[in-house]
Amino acid sequence: MGEPLQASRGTRDIWGAEILLWQRVEQQAREILGRANYQEIRTPIFEATELFSRGIGEGTDIVSKEMYTFTDRGNRSLTLRPEGTAGVVRSFIEHKRFQQGVQRCWYLGPMFRYERPQAGRYRQFHQLGVEVFGSDDPRADVEVIALALELLQSLQVTALTLELNSVGDLDDRCRYRAALVDYLTPYAQELDPDSQVRLHKNPLRILDSKDPKTQAILQDAPQLPDYLSPAAQAHFEQVQAGLAALGFTYVLNPRLVRGLDYYTRTAFEITTTALGAQAAVVGGGRYDGLVETLGGPATPAVGWALGLERLVTLLQKQGDATIPGPEVYVAAFGEGTAILALQVAQKLRHLGLRVEMDVSHSPVGKQLKRADKLGSKACVIIGETEAATGQILVKWLATGVQDVVAFPAGFAQPEWWREKLGTGPA
Ligand code: AMP
Repeated sequence: MGEPLQASRGTRDIWGAEILLWQRVEQQAREILGRANYQEIRTPIFEATELFSRGIGEGTDIVSKEMYTFTDRGNRSLTLRPEGTAGVVRSFIEHKRFQQGVQRCWYLGPMFRYERPQAGRYRQFHQLGVEVFGSDDPRADVEVIALALELLQSLQVTALTLELNSVGDLDDRCRYRAALVDYLTPYAQELDPDSQVRLHKNPLRILDSKDPKTQAILQDAPQLPDYLSPAAQAHFEQVQAGLAALGFTYVLNPRLVRGLDYYTRTAFEITTTALGAQAAVVGGGRYDGLVETLGGPATPAVGWALGLERLVTLLQKQGDATIPGPEVYVAAFGEGTAILALQVAQKLRHLGLRVEMDVSHSPVGKQLKRADKLGSKACVIIGETEAATGQILVKWLATGVQDVVAFPAGFAQPEWWREKLGTGPA
C-alpha cells in the first residue's frame, strides 16, 4: 500500500457542519440577488490564458506570478480562472449580450491562484461575484455595494467596515501615477523590496504595502482623490450620497487601489478585524475599460467579488451549525425484510420526511443505537414477523413508546406522521 494521499497544498475539503454554512450563504445570495433581478451565470473553470493576461493586466501579481497555466494536448495555453470577471466579460462579448441594454448577473465558484497559503488565503478558493454592465450611473455602484452589505447583514455578520475610494479615470490615474513616482523616487532605496520593484512596474500597488517604513514614507505622498477629473469627482460624490441615503456608513480610504488593473472610478472593500491579516471579505469597483480591452464595445461596468472561505470563517465564529439527523430511521433484520425496508423508506420519503435506511446487517439493537445517535425521532422496525404480517413497528425514541402500523395499506397518512414527529402541517 502506498502513502495515504493528502489534499494539495492550499486546497481544502468542505464538509460536515461547515457545508451547512456554505449552503446558507448560497441560499441567501440567491434570494437577495434574485430580488434585485440579477441572473446567475456559470462560465468555464479554465479559459484561454490570453483572456487573463489581457484582462487583468501583465503587471499584476495575479498574472505575473499566481496563475495556474498549462498547455493542453492540443498545444493551447489555458489557465484555471484566478477570478470571475474576465470570463463573464468574455461570455457576454461572445454572446453579444452587450447589445441588450443593462445586464446584471452573479456567479459563484472556485478560483485558483498560486499564492502562499495561510489562514484565509488558499490556492483554490471560492468567490461569489456580481457584475452590472452597461451603466455609468453612480446608482449602479450604489446598488452593487448595497447588495453586498445587505447579504452580509442578512447573515448577521457584524463589525464590518465599508472602505471607499475613487481611483479616477485612466487619465487621472496616469497623472497620479507620475506624481507618485516623482514623490517616491528619491526614497527608492528605503522602500521595501516589493515596493522597489513596483515603483517601475505597478507603482499604485505600493500604496498597499504593509511595510512600516514604506508606510511612513507614504504619509506625505500625493493622494489619488486630489487627481480626479471633475466628472470622476462628481461621480464619486453621488456614490457617497446614494450610500448615505440608504443608511450605509463608509470610511474614505484614499490608499485603496485594489490589485487588478482594470478598475476605474469607484473602488471599495468590505473589511473585518476578525480575520487577522486577511481583512478583505469583499472587493470590487467600477471597471469601465475592461469590456473594450477584451474586444467588446465600450461598456461601463461595476461589480464585486466576495471571498466565501472568509465569510464562512466569520459565520463559524458566530457558532457552528449542527447537521440534522434523519427524522425516521428504518431498521430491518432477518429473512424477507430487505425489500420491505426499501419500500417503507421510499414511502416515508414521499411523505416529505428525512429518512435513513439501515444497510449494515447489524443486530437490531445496534441499528436502534445508531438511530438514536443520529438524533432520529422514530425508528421503524421491520423483523420477520412484521414482514410476514404487514404490520410494522414504529418506536418513538424519546419515550420508548411503540405503535403498530399497517403496511402498505393504511401506512401513508402524512398527518399522523407529522403530528407524531411534532413537525406540524406541511
Ligand atoms: P480579489 O479578486 O483579489 O479582489 O478578491 C476578492 C475577494 O476574494 C477578497 O476580498 C477575498 O475575500 C477573496 N480572496 C482573494 N484571494 C483569495 C485567496 N487566495 N484565498 C481566499 N480568499 C481569497
